[in-house]
Amino acid sequence: TMEFTDRLTRVEPSATLAISALATELENEGEDVVDLSVGEPDFPTPDNIVDAGQDAMDAGHTGYTTSAGIIDLREAIAEKLADDGLEHTADEIIVTPGAKQALYEIVQALIAEGDEVALLDPAWVSYEAMVKMAGGDLTRVDLSDADFQLEPALEDLADAVSDETELLIVNSPSNPTGAVYSDAALEGVRDLAVEHDITVISDEIYKEITYGVSPTSLGTLEGMADRTITVNGFSKAYSMTGWRLGYFAGPEELIDQAGKLHSHSVSSAVNFVQHAGIEALANTDEAVTEMTDAFEERRDLVVDLLAEHDVDVAVPEGAFYMMLPVDDSEALRASDASDDESRADDQAWCEGAIEDAHVATVPGSAFGTPGYARISYAASEERLEEGIDRLAAEGYL
Ligand code: PLP
Repeated sequence: TMEFTDRLTRVEPSATLAISALATELENEGEDVVDLSVGEPDFPTPDNIVDAGQDAMDAGHTGYTTSAGIIDLREAIAEKLADDGLEHTADEIIVTPGAKQALYEIVQALIAEGDEVALLDPAWVSYEAMVKMAGGDLTRVDLSDADFQLEPALEDLADAVSDETELLIVNSPSNPTGAVYSDAALEGVRDLAVEHDITVISDEIYKEITYGVSPTSLGTLEGMADRTITVNGFSKAYSMTGWRLGYFAGPEELIDQAGKLHSHSVSSAVNFVQHAGIEALANTDEAVTEMTDAFEERRDLVVDLLAEHDVDVAVPEGAFYMMLPVDDSEALRASDASDDESRADDQAWCEGAIEDAHVATVPGSAFGTPGYARISYAASEERLEEGIDRLAAEGYL
């Protein structure tokens, strides 16, 4: 028999898997499932990017590249970051197969057994797994009583972090809440990071998808340049999830260390995909605006539809997710599911919602925040309406 390492046995399989397994099972039985659980835009990759990828393949860009990524792409990324007020040379950037790999490499570079990492809850599911795989310990700050905003919870963050804290992960706009943190909140983060000498990851993968606000990049704040690692990627803004392209930018010493892991594991991101990335950064503003406008309309639609059922949500200002409070739903109160202590209420709600209403969502407990379900509104208006109607009809709102 095989013996597995602690670093893997201490990680739970993703709670979202149970939901997608149920969804697949129902679909295989011929049922129509409204899937509001997905974390990806429902638009095709814009044509100019697809063409650039095909052209690059035709032109023979099919071999290995420099481990950190082709220089033209890293220079284009440096320019994009400069537009956001972040000063990085191409040498301070590593191009990765997705932002997920970037985050993985950073956590591996910085976190050893027993190191403390602070998360703002609800937090994207993979942060916890990455920290645990590195042997780190988590300190979690709950933002759910603050409408998922950070500014009102700064005192809680101050209580949670200390000189022992190695790393803080900030994700604005946030998956799963869609919250965009205010400048005052980011300044609060800066003050604590400087006081306790904490390195901060700023995961900005949803930065391009916002509604009437433009989020500040944490690394632009005074005192943050040499302690911030900025992560971004192409999956969400350019609808390129399957292409696997992302990057991180940070102090050169971090890049040198993480670069060893990068070169000895993935070698590099895919060559022709990197060429498509150059095109995405150069010529896709219009398509990004169109997709963002569509997400904003859908956000408004879902918020309005929920309000018609007397459900108030914290209105997201970015990304394409929102948190639906589920503790109070009729279906949950009527069932004895909530008495099952091995399962959080929101998990029971999500399982019930998919079984009874055939609507798939993700339980908030997967993000560290029980009592909610995450809805992704990266779906057509028709499907969103259908989903909300079904939830209401089955007593889930
Ligand atoms: N960070 C956050 C907050 C995300 O939601 C995701 C994707 O769901 C990622 C990072 C990783 O994206 P990718 O690896 O596709 O670039």
